[in-house]
Amino acid sequence: MTQDTATDTRAEAATEPKAETRSFQAEVSRLLDIVAHSLYSEKEIFLRELISNASDACDRLRYAALTEPSLAEGDAGYRVVLTPVKSSRTLTVSDNGIGMSHDELIENLGTIARSGTAAFVDQLTGDARSDMSLIGQFGVGFYSAFMVADKVEVLSRKAGESEGWRWTSDGKGSFTIEPAANVPRGARITLHMREGDDEYLEPHRLRQIVKRYSDHIALPIVLADGNKEETINSASALWTRPRAEITPEQYTEFYHHVGHSFDEPWLTLHAKAEGVLEYSFLLFVPSSKPFDLFDPDRKPRLKLYVRRVFITDEGTELVPPYLRFVKGIVDSEDLPLNISREMLQSNPMVARIRQQLTRRVLSELGKKASEAPEEYAKFWDNFGAVLKEGLYEDREQRDTLLPLVRLRSTTREGLISLDDYVAAMRPGQEAIYTITGDNLELLKKSPQIEGFRAHGVEVLLLTDPIDEFWVSTVGTYKEKPFKSATRGGVDLDKIAPADDKEKPPKPEPPAKLASLIAIFKLALGETVKDVRSSERLTDSAVCLVADEGDLDMHLERLLKQHRQLDTSAKRILELNPQHPLIARLAASVGESGASEQLSEFAWLLLDQARIVEGEQLPDPPAFARRLASLLERGLPAAA
Ligand code: ADP
Repeated sequence: MTQDTATDTRAEAATEPKAETRSFQAEVSRLLDIVAHSLYSEKEIFLRELISNASDACDRLRYAALTEPSLAEGDAGYRVVLTPVKSSRTLTVSDNGIGMSHDELIENLGTIARSGTAAFVDQLTGDARSDMSLIGQFGVGFYSAFMVADKVEVLSRKAGESEGWRWTSDGKGSFTIEPAANVPRGARITLHMREGDDEYLEPHRLRQIVKRYSDHIALPIVLADGNKEETINSASALWTRPRAEITPEQYTEFYHHVGHSFDEPWLTLHAKAEGVLEYSFLLFVPSSKPFDLFDPDRKPRLKLYVRRVFITDEGTELVPPYLRFVKGIVDSEDLPLNISREMLQSNPMVARIRQQLTRRVLSELGKKASEAPEEYAKFWDNFGAVLKEGLYEDREQRDTLLPLVRLRSTTREGLISLDDYVAAMRPGQEAIYTITGDNLELLKKSPQIEGFRAHGVEVLLLTDPIDEFWVSTVGTYKEKPFKSATRGGVDLDKIAPADDKEKPPKPEPPAKLASLIAIFKLALGETVKDVRSSERLTDSAVCLVADEGDLDMHLERLLKQHRQLDTSAKRILELNPQHPLIARLAASVGESGASEQLSEFAWLLLDQARIVEGEQLPDPPAFARRLASLLERGLPAAA
């Protein structure tokens, strides 16, 4: 079948000299295959996608025509027309927007340019159910036409150009593009319906779909049924309508359109600011995490309108980068209509709007955090890592942001706030203890926090890379300094034990511990900064810690991974004086031949501490040799 189609197109190309046939980008082909075969449940959304594209195309021309009125050529009555024709079993969606040039048709309808897309398509498995949920988060835009059509034809002429083009495809690997005569400005997309999809040729069904998904579109959506033309949506910008008249479904559909999103909004904020600056805003916080949240190329998703005219959604800086998950629109009454994108960046009104919107969003988040902690926890799992960027980027909002932070800790399940932490501090505890790493489960098992656990002292478990940075920038919370549990000395003795139990008397350290430490220091020499007896260990024999003024070990690894550091600070090796192994080693000090063996042990224990810490061993063969010889000595003597 695919073979035949390919031959047919080539034959066509031969009779029409200017027609060219091109292959879809590999990712598009895979996507189309999945779209055609597995998306049966919500096929009707194809219409929403095409109308959404048509409306965007009109918005873009309206903006371009502000500075170049000739582009609109006297046809500025922007609209989208749906024409179902039963006799030919086609549905046409046409607009008089900006249209596409030859190269744009190839680029936009043959590749997927959005950032992170290749990675997204790689995640598609061919398994209908999991693919559908992924596509649900991502959307397939124009390609969804192939859910209901076995052939799609796009006639388009770009505003300001005289040549029109016909793009056709059956969605099976390739498309054809050729010049076409008398093409009106904009795009005209004709779907040749698949067998069994005739419902989308019925006027009542089209009305129903438009009402459901596209009522909020600010342009008229016209149904052309025979000679009759009828506008079938409200055709007024949703944000200009009173809140009481907008249903939750309408908000959701608007969010899908404006944010290219497919989930439910977690938070909807719709209001009008009046005063020195007048503007409306309709903002959404998504309920799921976009896959490109940390992609450096990710564009902010807020759209700027000026008096209902779409201006831009690129680099609007209407919210700071740490609120980049917010989607929606801002419609200003005061900005000049002909404001250029470049002018926006330094415009004081935009800066003021950003400040006000930031406050507004943070205050709503604060309300959710206190009124609906479980819902807030979901938000936090999605976007907490982004919001925390604000703690070091935005001094002005730091005090508003800190109470919004949620963290995990060693003593409690679930998320806690810094206030929760401070309220549970033990008498005598002066610092907020933290430990940072990549993996929550491993962090919980870190030897450095054993003593804290034994004393009932809570330690915050920080696993986002950003944590290393905000904690040191913020420095203190409610006058309590943040202190890393893996750095410097700890004075756990000053802290009252858990459950207010009598403190058990501290066991005496082994008699020859000082000598053992001296032997270890001699053996390890310059490799470590110091060897000392530990207060923070209860179960493990040894651990590594950073000296007071040095970089935390996890941060050092992080910076090295990103090639921002190529030196290593020397670490301190701590020995647990209560551990039987350390006691045995100390007891053996002074025995004949012990000194050499103890040096070997020093290296073995240092390497063991490095492994637990997740560090690379500088000399793995030496470690293996020492371990093998130790194991060999431990075997009963051969008969
Ligand atoms: P998305 O709209 O999410 O970017 P689509 O696959 O739906 O993805 O469309 C890809 C691109 O094709 C759009 O970004 C736009 O540039 C262009 N496009 C689609 N439909 C139209 C149209 N009706 N008029 C002009 N350009 C369009």
